[in-house]
Amino acid sequence: AKDRGLGLIEVFDDAASHRSLDRLGLRSDLLGALEGDQFAVRYQPICDLGSRQVVAFEALLRWTHPQRGPVPPDVFIPLAEETGAIVPIGHWVLEQSCRELARWSGRTGKRIRVNVNLSPVQLQQPHLARELLDIVQRSGVDPGDVCLEVTEHSYLRDDVTESAAVLRSAGLHFALDDFGTSYSSLNYLKWFPIDLLKVDRSFVGGVAVSDTDRGIVRAVLAIADSLRLGVIAEGVETEEQRAVLMDLGCAWGQGNLLSIPLTPDDAAELIADRHSL
Ligand code: C2E
Ligand code: CA
Ligand code: CA
Ligand code: CA
Repeated sequence: AKDRGLGLIEVFDDAASHRSLDRLGLRSDLLGALEGDQFAVRYQPICDLGSRQVVAFEALLRWTHPQRGPVPPDVFIPLAEETGAIVPIGHWVLEQSCRELARWSGRTGKRIRVNVNLSPVQLQQPHLARELLDIVQRSGVDPGDVCLEVTEHSYLRDDVTESAAVLRSAGLHFALDDFGTSYSSLNYLKWFPIDLLKVDRSFVGGVAVSDTDRGIVRAVLAIADSLRLGVIAEGVETEEQRAVLMDLGCAWGQGNLLSIPLTPDDAAELIADRHSL
């Protein structure tokens, strides 16, 4: 099929057309998934790299399709963004996360936080700040223990800045996710009230073997230091990576070396029993 010309490749390439049919099916199935109880949230510990103490959990959404089984977030989140379903889904994730946070806090004297991913589509909703604050306040958790992870995007809109400012002044924190992977990274820091940078795992993956990746991580830490931002390294998979990151002065990390994302019960147990990994 490949030699029939550019326009026909999609039509005649079986694999490609199956993929796009799949996406169409999934897109409509997403609409009922919330009512159908098909979503779950997993919580990946974020640790002090030195002591391995758990300082926070990142909420990560999981979708188990009734016929197809688990669908990766990298597949269904973009579909949920296209349809707008990400708005109620995102509210639900925050609600679940605050409920778990209240449970963890009840079980330990130590401070624990929860990080929740916020889609750029959510950020553009006119009443976002009020709706998110309602959820946090109803749950009774300290808004200062909730951190919203945002990704860089190319547009700048006044209402986005305004929502962020309202949430920030209510005490919520913001982390800039996948830092360094987008062209507008540094510009974003000028107008969005960021507290934390998350170093993308594509740099963390090479930090022990590549001078370039190590240099980039060192530069991110220098920017964070001069702007007084915290830094979390994501995707820490080996002891070598952990050692190099600590050497460079990175305080916090998250990744399969420390723990994979946990069920709510396992996260609660970890907090109650040991509090460190
Ligand atoms: P992300 O926000 O960058 O989340 C980190 C991803 O890295 C997660 O993938 C996590 O499971 C994975 N990860 C953690 N440690 C390691 C490691 O050591 N090695 C490797 N290779 N991967 C690791 P996941 O759970 O598949 O989520 C993928 C993306 O989907 C997330 O990337 C985020 O952008 C999006 N996502 C997940 N949950 C939500 C949500 O509730 N709302 C929104 N808007 N997006 C979400
Ligand atoms: Ca994230
Ligand atoms: Ca990330
Ligand atoms: Ca990512």
